[in-house]
Amino acid sequence: MNPNKYDCIIIGGGATGAGIARDLSMRGVSVLLLEKNDLSEGTTGRCHAMLHSGGRYVFKDQIAATECAVENKILLRIAPHITESCGGYFIGISDEDLKYGETFKKRCKSADVWTQEISIEEFLNAEPNCNKNVKRVFKVKDGYIDPFLLTIYNAYDAKIHGATIKTYSEVINLVIDENLVIGVKYYDKLNSKTEVAYSEFTINATGPWASQFEKELDLSQTLEIAPTMGTLIVIKDRLVNHLINRLRKPGDGDIIVPSHQSIILGTTSKLVSLEDLDTLLADRSEIEYLLDLGEVLLPTIRNHHVIRFYSGARPLVASESSLREASRKFDIIDYEDEGYYGFLTIFGGKLTTYRLMAEKVSDFVCKKLNHTSTCQTSEKELPGGEEKVRKQTFQKALNVDEKTAFDMHYKWGTFYKEISNMCTQCLDSFSGLNEPKIICECENVTEPELKWVKKHLFVEVLDDYRRRTRQGMGSCQGQFCYYKIADIEAKLTEKTHSLLMDEMREALNERWKIEPSADEFQKRQIKLSKYIYLMGGKLE
Ligand SMILES: Cc1cc2nc3c(=O)[nH]c(=O)nc-3n(C[C@H](O)[C@H](O)[C@H](O)COP(=O)(O)OP(=O)(O)OC[C@H]3O[C@@H](n4cnc5c(N)ncnc54)[C@H](O)[C@@H]3O)c2cc1C
Repeated sequence: MNPNKYDCIIIGGGATGAGIARDLSMRGVSVLLLEKNDLSEGTTGRCHAMLHSGGRYVFKDQIAATECAVENKILLRIAPHITESCGGYFIGISDEDLKYGETFKKRCKSADVWTQEISIEEFLNAEPNCNKNVKRVFKVKDGYIDPFLLTIYNAYDAKIHGATIKTYSEVINLVIDENLVIGVKYYDKLNSKTEVAYSEFTINATGPWASQFEKELDLSQTLEIAPTMGTLIVIKDRLVNHLINRLRKPGDGDIIVPSHQSIILGTTSKLVSLEDLDTLLADRSEIEYLLDLGEVLLPTIRNHHVIRFYSGARPLVASESSLREASRKFDIIDYEDEGYYGFLTIFGGKLTTYRLMAEKVSDFVCKKLNHTSTCQTSEKELPGGEEKVRKQTFQKALNVDEKTAFDMHYKWGTFYKEISNMCTQCLDSFSGLNEPKIICECENVTEPELKWVKKHLFVEVLDDYRRRTRQGMGSCQGQFCYYKIADIEAKLTEKTHSLLMDEMREALNERWKIEPSADEFQKRQIKLSKYIYLMGGKLE
């Protein structure tokens, strides 16, 4: 058998591609997934991380709203270790918001999205930091989901079921034999090699980059993408414990999501070009604009430290209507009508509906491959999610404080046993307290967690640790921990000093890239960080 031949090749390792890899491999289909960077490094890792209740879409998109409501329940059940069922509120502040309240109620009902109106008093008791002038409040079932680990656990489960997952592998072009797509040519960045892989079916799950392969096909109609950049701001401290949405049609700066020890405020909506997709960065005016809007929901927001901001591009189809009103539903584009076989593009949707999208694509492909097995992903938990593990269990098993245990229990679920087994080799010799060594103090990331992800979760370069553990994502943005990570990587691999220094430089540049749009405090912090690494560590 040709080792480069698979039933299916999936291009793109965001939530959608990884979800398809998991679904198909659980059905017994052989899969190769190719991602040009790290898993979840595209739109998935740059979103708001909101597990939608559907409330946000009831006005414009009843189908997407219902899909979100159904998938929300499924994800809370299959991924209890990386989701938070915190609930959310839609709050009305202006007279216009109040009028929208009636429409919201009716539309939630018709889309089967649960909601309940509550008193202002009940709301302000639950969220004392929010605007006291709120006039109407509806409760919904919004939640939080870790987009990085969601994607990575999907890929991990796909691997357990036989899939091959290759990160840092960029598909350069499709391999086409007359009118049949028979594989792809890709560049393996880690080994600087061009490779070819073959398949019965190729799936393009590249989100906003999805139109890139269409130029290789002679099509009468092409996918017109309008990539729409949205910017988000991470603010230190959990200033709210539920999701806060403005009670109005979706607009800018009208959602706050509690995420680990911080909150995320967003978002904006700006058309960008396809050439800009790999280098999106908000300018200072966008950050100030978002903070102004954030003040309406949380009046003291500007008193808190902005940890970071980032931008992603929504994969929307170009239309005449406003970008905010573009549909959030998804489509499978099959090229058979155009005379091409063995290839499809999955496009649109939401993080919340990634599993459903994967199910529909997998059903489609299995039909083409005459595979009769059915989808199991709505029933079978993601790895680590077999049961809800309480933070007290982490505290006891790993001998860590309450805050560290809190952070851990939103990542590892039942893997705490494996991580705890690694603890004995990672004790903090300074404290002498039999505790695992803390490597990132802002996000309470310990050495055994880092070693565990290195062993299981596709860590190839230094910056990959961050997306799996949140190392370097906290308030100091990796001011001290990259040396410690490099030390761990050096002990676990045979990488040369110069390669590790290159990887550290790249990881730090990623942290420092926001400098041109940063506020004065962040600029000073980045300057200090540069001194520490450039002077202290001789990193030129
Ligand atoms: C600002 C913003 C906020 C959002 N907030 C939410 C939210 O709160 N909740 C929610 O449910 N949804 C949200 N979304 C939508 C959600 O993020 C996306 O729908 C979802 O993440 C898309 O996942 P994907 O896998 O389809 O695309 P991506 O995550 O973009 O994955 C595509 C992957 O393909 C890779 N790729 C591209 N070209 C190649 C190539 N040639 N070879 C190999 N790999 C390639 C890319 O590197 C990328 O990793 C938000 C989106 C944005 C932009």
